[in-house]
Amino acid sequence: MPDNRVVVYKGPGQVGVENIDYPKLEIPDDVAKGLGLKKDAPHAAILKIVSTNICGSDQHMVRGRTTAPVGQTLGHEITGEVVEAGADVLFHKLGDICSVPFNIACGRCRMCGEGKTGVCLNVNPGRAGAAYGYVDMGGWVGGQADYVMVPYADFNLLKFPDREQALEKILDLTMLSDIFPTGYHGAYTAGVTTGSTVYVAGAGPVGLAAAYSAQLLGASAVVVGDMIPERLAQARSFGCETVDLREPGDLPDKIKQILGEPEVDAAVDAVGFEAKGHGEGAAEQPATVLNDIMTVARAGARLGIPGLYVTGDPGGVDENAKVGQLGVRIGLGWAKSHEFVTGQCPVKRYNRQLMNLILADKAHIAKAVNATVIKLDDAPTGYKDFDKGAARKFVIDPHGMVPAA
Ligand code: NAD
Ligand code: ZN
Ligand code: ZN
Repeated sequence: MPDNRVVVYKGPGQVGVENIDYPKLEIPDDVAKGLGLKKDAPHAAILKIVSTNICGSDQHMVRGRTTAPVGQTLGHEITGEVVEAGADVLFHKLGDICSVPFNIACGRCRMCGEGKTGVCLNVNPGRAGAAYGYVDMGGWVGGQADYVMVPYADFNLLKFPDREQALEKILDLTMLSDIFPTGYHGAYTAGVTTGSTVYVAGAGPVGLAAAYSAQLLGASAVVVGDMIPERLAQARSFGCETVDLREPGDLPDKIKQILGEPEVDAAVDAVGFEAKGHGEGAAEQPATVLNDIMTVARAGARLGIPGLYVTGDPGGVDENAKVGQLGVRIGLGWAKSHEFVTGQCPVKRYNRQLMNLILADKAHIAKAVNATVIKLDDAPTGYKDFDKGAARKFVIDPHGMVPAA
């Protein structure tokens, strides 16, 4: 058996790279016991990881802002080569290079049947929905590793048609496991269409992917808000307008200066519960972005909310925030007849089409999010730099398979 390493949460602000058993074709104990399923997983495959990205969602755990235990394995953005396939895997072969949606889904339940793979009913005894390497998400081992097990492989894996082409475009394709579909989902569910004006809160990788997707969907103008100048510059690098939320003035006025009116047709929250208030050095105000997008979206608009909100936050700003209860001005959204779309992005709804755009050279998502390749052993530094607000999306290359740029 080859050696296997994985990135592990070691306590607030710390991750390490540790040895771990080579994966088996088995589902986690908790899932098997909790849901009364067989542990054997002939429907699973083992992937040698080609690339696996660090995500803002990981940062919530690493900052100690979730109930993740020390020892939690990390990594839900996985692209890999099939090196072992169970007897019931019919349509994937050894050597296939595949994208793995971060949502783990059975492909057989009512939710999967409706395409709602973010809330599959058979993969997590605690709640609907699961993911690799994530707190409260079923105990599946993380994929910031050398190897990982993917259950229900025929359903979950998206095979790239040509191996050589896949490796050539791997920095774009690696974004299909999460942020490209998630950003697209944010823009699409906010109703972005030809000519829309759009506000995207957050210029992290998800916000940049949402902004880029809004352009793909035909937006006439995309305004991105953040308080990190490098990230705002990254948004401008592909044609977005930006607002620096540290500067004085309110958001509708800033949008009016750019668009000539204080409202937009569609708005996306790509920040989530660790949102800061406006102004230089402002403290955390977890409902800021939800209130901002209701403020700037026109009446009748739809709000895409991929930004993550939790049900348990030990570092919450007050007792309410500690259980995910925030000061959301719902009356404003109600008065404007806003529609809200929340939750995990159901990656499978979008990943194939976005893959086709990448392969046809019509989407350059790696450039938009400034994909930056690092080694698995350098993951702790990657996490630190990302936490400091680097305008980069870190892509871990455990086996040196990513071709040099
Ligand atoms: P990130 O932490 O890199 O980016 C968040 C950005 O928001 C930062 O640049 C920060 O400066 C900025 N910000 C803070 N307060 C703000 C405010 N009031 N207005 C505007 N910007 C503000 O994270 P990311 O990787 O880009 O992910 C963004 C969010 O999306 C996270 O909450 C992550 O967990 C979530 N996410 C959700 C899904 C899903 O399926 N729904 C998938 C991936 C990520
Ligand atoms: Zn992610
Ligand atoms: Zn299911």
